[in-house]
Amino acid sequence: MIDTHIHADARSSEDFKEMYLSGIDCAITCSYYPYKIDAENILLNHLNRILEYDTLRASQYGLDLKVALGIHPTNSIENPQMIFDEMYNWIENKQIVAIGEIGLEDLTETEIDIFKKQLDIADETNSKVIIHTPRKKKLEVLKVILDIVPQHLDESQAVIDHVNQEVIGEVIDRNYMLGITVQPQKLDVDGAIDILDNFGFDNFLLNSDMSNKPSDHLSVAKTIRELSRLGYKKSSIDKISHRNASDYFKI
Ligand SMILES: [Zn+2]
Repeated sequence: MIDTHIHADARSSEDFKEMYLSGIDCAITCSYYPYKIDAENILLNHLNRILEYDTLRASQYGLDLKVALGIHPTNSIENPQMIFDEMYNWIENKQIVAIGEIGLEDLTETEIDIFKKQLDIADETNSKVIIHTPRKKKLEVLKVILDIVPQHLDESQAVIDHVNQEVIGEVIDRNYMLGITVQPQKLDVDGAIDILDNFGFDNFLLNSDMSNKPSDHLSVAKTIRELSRLGYKKSSIDKISHRNASDYFKI
C-alpha cells in the first residue's frame, strides 16, 4: 500500500512502525510547517529536514518515504526565490517526486503569486504537483484553483487533494488526479468508499494526511481492508492501494 500524502516530520517512529506492519510500504511526505515562518532560510531548513532526516527515520522502520517539497500556502513567505532555486535542484537530482503540497488557503495576493510560480516551475520541469484544498471555504477556494491551474500547467500533472462529496462534482470530469483523504473530522472510511463506488477507482489516490492535527496513520490500511472485506474486485483495490500512485508518480 502507498499512503500518498503524509507529514512525516510531525509523527513518531512508532507510527512508521505500525504503518509498515499494517502493510503500508511507501508514503509520500509533503511540506507543511505548522507555525509562522518569517525567513526563507527557516523554511529551507524545514524542507531539507524532511528530505534528509525524516526519510532516514522512516526507512529504519521499513517505510519507504518519497518526498514532495514546495511552499505550502500557509507558509507563504515574502522572499521565496531561494526556495524556488532549490526546487530546480531537487527536481534535477530526482530527490522529489512532486512539488507539494502547494495550493491556496486564504486567497491572499502573496499566496496566489507563490502558487502560480510553483505551477510554472512544474510546467517548465515537467513535474507533478500536489494541490491542497482547505477545510474552510473548500468550494470557494477550489474554484479559484481550477481557474488558475490550466493557465499554467496541464491538468493531468496536478493532484487535487482532499476532495470530498461536497466538491467532487467540480473536478470529476476534468483531467486531474484526485486525492481522497481519510482523516478524523474530514472523511471516514465509509465516505471514501462511497466516492469510489460512485466514481470508479481510476482517477483517485488514497491518503491519511497524517500531521500534527487529528489524524489516523492507519486510515489507508483500514480503507483497503474494508474494501477487501466488502468483496471489491482485487484489480480495483490494487489501483487505489498502490497502482494509481506508482504509475502517476513513477515510484
Ligand atoms: Zn497535507
